Amino acid sequence: MDKIASILGVRVNALTMDESVALLTKNTLAGKRTFVVTANAEIIMMAHEDPAYRELLLQRADLVLPDGAGTVWAGNYLGYRVPERVAGYDLYLRLLEEAAQHGIPVYFFGGKPGIADEAAAEAVRRWPGLKVAGCRNGYFKPEEEAAIVEGINNSGAGMLFAALGAPKQENWLDHYASSLEPALLMGIGGSFDVLAGKVQRAPRWMQEARLEWLYRLLKQPSRLGRMMALPKFVLAVRSEKKEKD
Ligand code: UDP
Repeated sequence: MDKIASILGVRVNALTMDESVALLTKNTLAGKRTFVVTANAEIIMMAHEDPAYRELLLQRADLVLPDGAGTVWAGNYLGYRVPERVAGYDLYLRLLEEAAQHGIPVYFFGGKPGIADEAAAEAVRRWPGLKVAGCRNGYFKPEEEAAIVEGINNSGAGMLFAALGAPKQENWLDHYASSLEPALLMGIGGSFDVLAGKVQRAPRWMQEARLEWLYRLLKQPSRLGRMMALPKFVLAVRSEKKEKD
């Protein structure tokens, strides 16, 4: 894995979407454990500010992908070649397609009660061959976690998608990584809400104009606090660049 960018102390694998899909499908078919994080600016800022989360991304994630225009901009601005955005939701859909093609059972874990099931039903509608190993909502007490892990393992899933939001999903996957049997472990934030049709993705033109963040802010103004991470991210990247020069 030679294509690496270092952004605010986080190592990002500068792969394209196609490269990411090919690698993750190959690893899953080979039963090789791959813990994937799609790192947007907000995740990189969290890692920048929280040493434990940074340690998780650096030492225990197998692949950290450039999610979002901010991460791609930062990588290129700091002098690395980050070819394109590997957005978590897009990668998730591509992996579902591969799972359907290769007969890999998929587990949907997270979201409000019923949402994972709705997302799974929509996935099967899009890819009729898809094997849904199981679904579980993302609201649980600590004493239920062992049963959740057991349910995932008994399901025979090869891919586990955890939609608990960052950093909860990464912390959960990391905590149980050695007990979980699926080869692929990936946090996907609010992706079930999008696939289930509860939350809309920004229109393509806004994504291409790098304005997806603005769309999300207009739709969910309560995200403003979280979004303050973005200008902080830009300032931190600029000062990292000054230090490098
Ligand atoms: N969620 C969950 N359990 C929790 C907290 C959140 O399953 O304890 C789900 C929530 O229902 C939502 C997702 O995690 O579907 C987080 O969505 P958000 O839009 O915050 O994620 P992002 O894509 O921005 O990381």
